[in-house]
Amino acid sequence: MIQKILIVDDSPVARKMLKASIPKDKEYEIYEACNGKEGIEKFKEVSPDITFMDLTMPVLDGYKAIPELRKINPHAIVIVCSADVQPKSIAEVFSLGALTVLKKPAKTESVQNVMDQANGKLKNLREQNESKQ
Ligand SMILES: [Mg+2]
Repeated sequence: MIQKILIVDDSPVARKMLKASIPKDKEYEIYEACNGKEGIEKFKEVSPDITFMDLTMPVLDGYKAIPELRKINPHAIVIVCSADVQPKSIAEVFSLGALTVLKKPAKTESVQNVMDQANGKLKNLREQNESKQ
């Protein structure tokens, strides 16, 4: 189940708003990074269960950061959280392996939904790992 959450966004306001939308059903460990490069470093350091990723960021954008995260962990659960939700951008982030896309500002209800989806995925992964042993 989700315990650690990483939020990668260059806007402090966007990070704050997303944090405020995370359900209060339990205490999550929440980590933040302000661009893709920092996000990759944080991802290596804390191994988050899910990562919320902005697309437009300085230094390294979300399009370049997502494949890097998935190189580190091929099962990395990445949720794109962006104001740019044009069909072309959505298709591209799905092809990079994002689980889903949230339009900014994300509502608590939508964040809850994607976290349920992510929990389902984590549960499946765990079951697959157990059956391999
Ligand atoms: Mg941005």
